[in-house]
Amino acid sequence: MKYRNTKQKELILDIIKNNHNHPTIYEIYDEVKKADATIGQATVYRNVKQFVKEGKIHLIKTKQGVDRYDFYQDHFHLECLACGKLFDIYDSNLLKQLKNKDYLKDFQATNYNLTIEGYCPECNGGKCEEV
Ligand SMILES: [Zn+2]
Ligand SMILES: [Zn+2]
Repeated sequence: MKYRNTKQKELILDIIKNNHNHPTIYEIYDEVKKADATIGQATVYRNVKQFVKEGKIHLIKTKQGVDRYDFYQDHFHLECLACGKLFDIYDSNLLKQLKNKDYLKDFQATNYNLTIEGYCPECNGGKCEEV
């Protein structure tokens, strides 16, 4: 039983890791179901919550009120206020600058996350059609 739980955990985490589109819990469950139909929704939800608690993945609360999950850390996001897409930005220079900030000297930072809000090229200033 324990072995099986570990396997399930690994599968769920793997699916989040391989998804670079900041999946919602529904999207994660959908993919888990495809990989192993015996894993129930409650198990997926419980494990995802646990991963967040353990710091293995990150919960992103978007402006649209949708919770999204991100396996990767130390990067920034451009959040489109029209379509809700999150775009990953890896800016090592900015990250380095942040890490050298005085106000972070005595603060043990575990994840550097910065969100820039606006409109993506496709949405063109908020005139986005329903996706
Ligand atoms: Zn957009
Ligand atoms: Zn991201």
